[in-house]
Amino acid sequence: MTSYFQTIIGGGSFGKVYFGRLEDGTRVAVKVLSRRSKQGHKEFQAEEKLLKVVHHRNLVTLIGYSDDPENLALIYEYMSNGNLREHLLADRLHILSWPERLQIAIDATHGRLKYLHSGCMPAIIHRDFKTANILLDENMRAKISDFGLSRAFATLHDTHISTTPGGTPGYLDPEFSSFGNLNQKSDVYSFGIVLFELITGRPALIKDGGKLTHILQWALPLIERGDIESIMDPRLNGEFKAASAWKAVEIAMSCVPALASHRPDMSHVLPEMKGCMVLESTPGDSQRMGTSKRSNSFKTSFQTSSLNLGMVPPDPR
Ligand code: ATP
Repeated sequence: MTSYFQTIIGGGSFGKVYFGRLEDGTRVAVKVLSRRSKQGHKEFQAEEKLLKVVHHRNLVTLIGYSDDPENLALIYEYMSNGNLREHLLADRLHILSWPERLQIAIDATHGRLKYLHSGCMPAIIHRDFKTANILLDENMRAKISDFGLSRAFATLHDTHISTTPGGTPGYLDPEFSSFGNLNQKSDVYSFGIVLFELITGRPALIKDGGKLTHILQWALPLIERGDIESIMDPRLNGEFKAASAWKAVEIAMSCVPALASHRPDMSHVLPEMKGCMVLESTPGDSQRMGTSKRSNSFKTSFQTSSLNLGMVPPDPR
């Protein structure tokens, strides 16, 4: 299927991902479990079990798998535009437009969070929502991948104590880092971070010389100053409406308070994200960069104190 593992298209903790073709020519991605992978077997089983029962147009489809113990592999539909992280890197030739970014955020909200949280019983937490796990098809529509770390909720209780480390630095719910509390709002926090990456074009952890700065610590002073020009990805060249940009910032901020109970449900985030797209696509009133300072009342409505940024502990990994 992979022509003797000819083309590597990615790699993660599970192992390498290869380009492949089925007999009928369908393009696939084949994720082969590395023999060195420590958590691989468990993740393989989690992913295979979950994707066999969960289907949605914004989730990457599992086409098949090999459960031969010597050759564990998962076979997915091929997402020809790779992962979102790569598209936000500084050296990309094609710069994602603002409407494309909003659509990706809407797809992501739809696909994984709303569907998994509201449509499935028991509810499922992804636990590792990040730009590397958002894959793009040929039309730049987003699907969520990598459910290896997902855990189905066995009970109807909203809170779950987990002792298993999971997730990626920069995206981890501060409540999980501090207390091991994992709940559906943990994914909401990670979504907020992804939305900030789409807005700013910067990674969750920004490298500055030898120092790492969390994207929230970078963005917050600019938001408080009402400085949308500095917040937005400079590669957008001002090609966005200030109203939709501020709305996106507002949604992202609402997702990232340190206390999980202060975050909205994803089912509330979805209509907000769609409203943001409407603001961007409505003709007229195209307030563009440079004329876009927000009023103080808007700024204080963020309740920045509830972010408690100073208390966000370092991620465990
Ligand atoms: P980790 O498992 O360590 O968190 P990860 O989630 O990035 O890392 P994988 O899910 O194994 O690891 O995927 C690695 C990369 O392989 C992806 O970021 C993507 O670039 C590529 N990839 C994975 N699945 C597909 C697919 N279905 N179509 C196209 N590319 C894919």
